[in-house]
Amino acid sequence: MNKLIAGNWKMNGSLAANQALLAALAQGLGVKPACDVAVCVPAPYLAQVQSLKVAAVDLGSQDVSAQTSGAYTGEVSAAMLKDFGARYAIVGHSERRQYHGETDALVADKARAALAVGITPIVCVGETLAEREAGRTEEVVKRQLAAVIHTNGHCISEIVVAYEPVWAIGTGKTASPQEAQAVHAVLRAQLKAASDHPARVKILYGGSMNAANAASLLSQADIDGGLIGGASLKAADFLSIIAAAQ
Ligand code: PEP
Repeated sequence: MNKLIAGNWKMNGSLAANQALLAALAQGLGVKPACDVAVCVPAPYLAQVQSLKVAAVDLGSQDVSAQTSGAYTGEVSAAMLKDFGARYAIVGHSERRQYHGETDALVADKARAALAVGITPIVCVGETLAEREAGRTEEVVKRQLAAVIHTNGHCISEIVVAYEPVWAIGTGKTASPQEAQAVHAVLRAQLKAASDHPARVKILYGGSMNAANAASLLSQADIDGGLIGGASLKAADFLSIIAAAQ
């Protein structure tokens, strides 16, 4: 199975900066890298990134509405994302859980909305530092994933999961490969128990993954790729992580 390296640009970028970044990625990647690559861009830039047609890079969004259409000012529906060629949608990123009050149930509904139009949700789960220190990591990530399984059990093998310890996101602190692998194994077992489909669900690690630590994280048995924030904004760093995944 190919690993997946997905960039999360967060609220960064401009028409000029995106064009330069994608041109550098296109040059560095060639036609067919030996792993799957995606960039999850701010919604206003979907059209631009789609029109730049970098064949080796799939397109994703950073969020999706749980609703299909109607009076939901400011929301972007899954069908709209599909119109612009989105293959992935991040759901339940910790920044959305923290700053926008997204609950496990809402995240599960967002995953359902994405799946309904054939977009792969990248479902983020992860514990805060306080939760880890209280020994609650396993309980928290299992609860977050269980909500998504409860709502989407029939097509759970279609999702991607991203384990992102909140204390490692944008902080420069990374889970050690062993710490990350231990949580991935828990999530793997939970997914296996929920699915009678033999397909292996990709479980990505996210949290300050960079050119220096990518290889050791990506060599773990249950780490199938990475969700990359800060390092996805610099072509050289993102390309090094992709190289480590091949
Ligand atoms: C993220 O935003 O999903 C992320 C992992 O960020 P960073 O790589 O900057 O920690």
